Amino acid sequence: MSGPTAIAQGGAANAPDVSTITVRRPADGEIIGTVADLDADQVAAVCTDLRLAQPAWEALGPRGRSAHLLRWLDWLLDNEDRLLRLVQQETGKSWADASLEISVAVDVINYFTKNAERFLADRHVKPAGAANAMRRLRVQVRPYQLVGLITPWNGPLAGPMMDVVGALVAGAAVVSKPSEVTPLTWTEVVRGWREDIGAPPVLAAATGAGATGAAVVDHTDMVMFTGSVRTGRAISVRCAERLIPCSLELGGKDALIVLADADLQRAAAGAVWGGMTNSGQACVGVERVYVEAPVYDEFVSLVTDKVRALRQGVDAPGSFACDIGTMVTASQVDIVAAHVQDAVEKGATVLVGGKRGQGNSFEPTVLVDVDHGMRCMREETFGPTLAIMRVANADEAIALANDSDYGLSSSLWTRDPDKADRLSRRIEAGSVSINNALVATFQFPIPMGGWKNSGIGTRFGGPQGVLKYCRQQSVVAERYALKSEPLWYPVVPARSRLIGRAVRLLGAHDWRRRLGLSGPGRRATAQITPP
Ligand code: NAD
Repeated sequence: MSGPTAIAQGGAANAPDVSTITVRRPADGEIIGTVADLDADQVAAVCTDLRLAQPAWEALGPRGRSAHLLRWLDWLLDNEDRLLRLVQQETGKSWADASLEISVAVDVINYFTKNAERFLADRHVKPAGAANAMRRLRVQVRPYQLVGLITPWNGPLAGPMMDVVGALVAGAAVVSKPSEVTPLTWTEVVRGWREDIGAPPVLAAATGAGATGAAVVDHTDMVMFTGSVRTGRAISVRCAERLIPCSLELGGKDALIVLADADLQRAAAGAVWGGMTNSGQACVGVERVYVEAPVYDEFVSLVTDKVRALRQGVDAPGSFACDIGTMVTASQVDIVAAHVQDAVEKGATVLVGGKRGQGNSFEPTVLVDVDHGMRCMREETFGPTLAIMRVANADEAIALANDSDYGLSSSLWTRDPDKADRLSRRIEAGSVSINNALVATFQFPIPMGGWKNSGIGTRFGGPQGVLKYCRQQSVVAERYALKSEPLWYPVVPARSRLIGRAVRLLGAHDWRRRLGLSGPGRRATAQITPP
């Protein structure tokens, strides 16, 4: 490999005249690596290489492409320990949280490779209307040639993997821009694709910060973005200017509602898992909890005990000794601290945690006596906090859950399936997990996407998870090729009148109109005198 493509995959530290980004371990600030900070010209060169490789990739067909993806899956499993150590180093995750990244990667590759042929198959469609009866209709899909994939820092392996598989299996080439905060794992995974398994050079990692991401948007045909609302909006504007589509998975402020008839033990355990997993740095993490008054005290007590019991730290690889790790960035810890401080200043009570911990960590925290005037109930905290609010009934819970600029996911706890069904239809969010938290996000056969400020478009969603990277192409073929067609030139009055009568006969819904007999409408028309 040579030139910018090599630079794009992590060779930058040794390359002259290339600016670099230093990557640090969140736990103690130690330097753990460097990657290239690609400028717009270098991104353009990477994209040119990818475009050259794409036609042969598309020509392989879904089965041929899936074979490479499955070899990549083998490689991921063969290198699991090494990759998870990298994830842990650059994120400060607990080993348990890091391990989830591999399982997401394995599942997503298996799902889309297993179904790729079916999802991408031509669709043969019955024609509509008598005039088209002699035509064959087919819809075939063709990938966007080059997809830009831009991701945040909270899941360096699983994050890009959730989208890259659909795009590659569709036949697109992909330039992926991992977060500048956590680029090491993804750069290595892309190197594995190109060098270790020798797959076609249709995937590159373009490392760098925001400007590199902007260049990716400028040189691709479709953008899949996961990240903040602010960046998502900027990307959406640029894509609109370029008239290219984008799919945006943005922030969240997910609500969890506990009704009085819920299994409280399970609901409390689910709320703690949903709020604290990945140290709360999950777009679909539970941030706000609304509990019906009769069970509020018991629920809060259960949650408090469970949060107090959490073991926080960066445990030894393979040990599974901690429940949650540190946070990824110091600035995210600052946001969490500011939300807790704001809540306390406005009257909230901290039942557990509430303080910064070692390195980039914040103690798992439970807040009560909260209201919607507080930042912790309105803005994305993206940290290990659960803010719990007492509500009079389900109506109030739904109203408060919907009182948000966000609408990513949500969770509803009740033993009454009919009530769950009715209430789920009133929640303004892209998904609802019933008697669980987070799970709606990882169901590949159904769509995952945000409403309101939480995004545009969806990821996964069965066929849609692949078709979103494709353009539809309609093909209309004549069954019998006559010398001429009734509508072609020259216009023959008798023939045109006959066509008009046929349209009426076949298209009208009553005999008066079918036969063209005079009626109120026709009389009115007849009375109009031309000027
Ligand atoms: P971010 O928006 O700051 O950065 C995300 C990515 O965009 C990074 O790779 C960054 O370098 C790049 N970028 C920055 N400016 C750009 C520009 N002008 N053009 C193109 N790319 C640009 O987000 P973050 O702080 O890395 O991640 C945290 C956010 O991500 C949170 O809001 C979280 O909710 C969200 N998130 C959403 C989901 C989801 O699926 N909905 C999943 C994970 C994280």
